[in-house]
Amino acid sequence: METTLRGVGVSHGVAIGEVRHMGTAVLEPPAKQIPAEDAGREQGRARQAVEAVAADLMARGNLAGGEAQAVLEAQAMMAQDPELMADVERRIAVGSTAERAVYDAFASYRELLAGAGEYLAGRVADLDDVRNRIVARLLGVPMPGVPDSERPFVLVARDLAPADTALLDPSLVLGFVTEEGGPTSHSAILARALGVPAVVALPGAGELGEGTVVAVDGSTGEVFVEPSEESRERLESAAAERRAALAASTGPGATADGHKVPLLANVGGPGDVPAAVEAGAEGVGLFRTEFLFLEDGSRAPSEEKQTAVYREVLEAFPEGRVVVRVLDAGADKPLGFLTPSDEPNPALGVRGLRSLLDHPDVLRAQLSALAAAADGLPVYLEVMAPMVADRADARAFAEACREAGLRAKFGAMVEIPSAALRARSILQEVEFLSLGTNDLAQYTFAADRQVGAVSRYQDPWQPALLDLVALAAEAAGAEGKSCGVCGEAASDPLLACVLTGLGVTSLSMGAASIPYVRATLAKHTLAQCERAASAARAADSAEEARAAAQAVLSGE
Ligand code: PEP
Ligand code: MG
Repeated sequence: METTLRGVGVSHGVAIGEVRHMGTAVLEPPAKQIPAEDAGREQGRARQAVEAVAADLMARGNLAGGEAQAVLEAQAMMAQDPELMADVERRIAVGSTAERAVYDAFASYRELLAGAGEYLAGRVADLDDVRNRIVARLLGVPMPGVPDSERPFVLVARDLAPADTALLDPSLVLGFVTEEGGPTSHSAILARALGVPAVVALPGAGELGEGTVVAVDGSTGEVFVEPSEESRERLESAAAERRAALAASTGPGATADGHKVPLLANVGGPGDVPAAVEAGAEGVGLFRTEFLFLEDGSRAPSEEKQTAVYREVLEAFPEGRVVVRVLDAGADKPLGFLTPSDEPNPALGVRGLRSLLDHPDVLRAQLSALAAAADGLPVYLEVMAPMVADRADARAFAEACREAGLRAKFGAMVEIPSAALRARSILQEVEFLSLGTNDLAQYTFAADRQVGAVSRYQDPWQPALLDLVALAAEAAGAEGKSCGVCGEAASDPLLACVLTGLGVTSLSMGAASIPYVRATLAKHTLAQCERAASAARAADSAEEARAAAQAVLSGE
């Protein structure tokens, strides 16, 4: 009999197929004592396994490209961490086998990470994945990860490690469902980048029987277990309708009555540009430059390297608009040479613009690399700072941009509630605002964006979040300046209409979402979007806000 489970839809589309669970078994090697004369050989095996796993992760990264590549390369670096390796060798020297030493060394590193603050929730999953890969290699057993199957399937997992999501074969993996993760977790961002329907934070996902048929609706977050013939038909025809609407909608983003809302792409580097161009992005609304810095977390990339990478992205959008965000290090994206390692709460510590103001040389080098990259190109370059809290922050950033001789618009991201509340004062220093709704939700609700248990607060339909969006958009309107959204909220087609109704002037999202947002926006007038926005703000919960907006837009 059909049952319905509800999680958080994070990547559009419908997938119907059999459940296959991710191979997540933690391989615990037996603790046995080896003779002292075997220690050298075991240490050699451990080193070889680590090198092989790191090389495999790098190769997967090369294949995947874009944001996924940076994540996988960061994992490869974790595998090769010299302190971890030294610990493994020490354990072998006192009698452990190579596999047991790796297992125990990672366990103690894991404890250290887990106790050290919030951004580590996501990194612990990455670390476990690296450990499982090394141990599996040493034991000569299959790698944990995506199951082998001849037939396409719906992949179910507790959480997905970047190494797996990066190489999901969309022709074999119809969709995925995870028990953990929130709408702004790495898994969700990667799923959207791949264009695979996905539902996260689904309680009970782990208990779905292997081989059970499920229908996953990545737009609504519903998962139908053993769907009836009627449900299948309804979902399939809704999906077909959506596909037809997508194919029919092209050109710049606009409402039905011609109110223009440029649709831009979020990119992590040149690897993401082809998909953005193919989706018809009118430019880039968020270039997350930190992925370039994460490649070698121990120092900043050279100015020449930065210039070359920035230029590649800028050249892809001649006459278009490219909004580059300066380095956003810290919290879930720590960088060894910038991020303090002893912060009790890194998301509330020295991150984003705060790190750069503490390291003006890094900011200066990045801004001059950007100036050099844009030199002679007709592109409209805009540069913005993450985590701006107040006017003093905005002024410091604008001054740094002017000093670097940058010919671009300077802007501030609105990710902290104080910036939304005092948007007009910030706009005295900068020319545009861009709402980072992922962090804005995190800080408004005091809810870590990486923790599945608090994902309900990360729902961008929360009326409190919509109120802050409205404040920022109204302030920008009053100052005659622009205010875009580049957080994940922009990728929800219905919410995109509401954001437009709130006065947001552009929407930036993962390339795969652009056609969905374009098609939905084109069906509604600006006045309808405004009515939907008022209805959503009048609600008391995210669910009610969504339902109220839906009712207005479907003319109920
Ligand atoms: C945001 O916080 O909404 C945002 C766009 O930045 P990031 O997701 O990279 O923190
Ligand atoms: Mg952010």
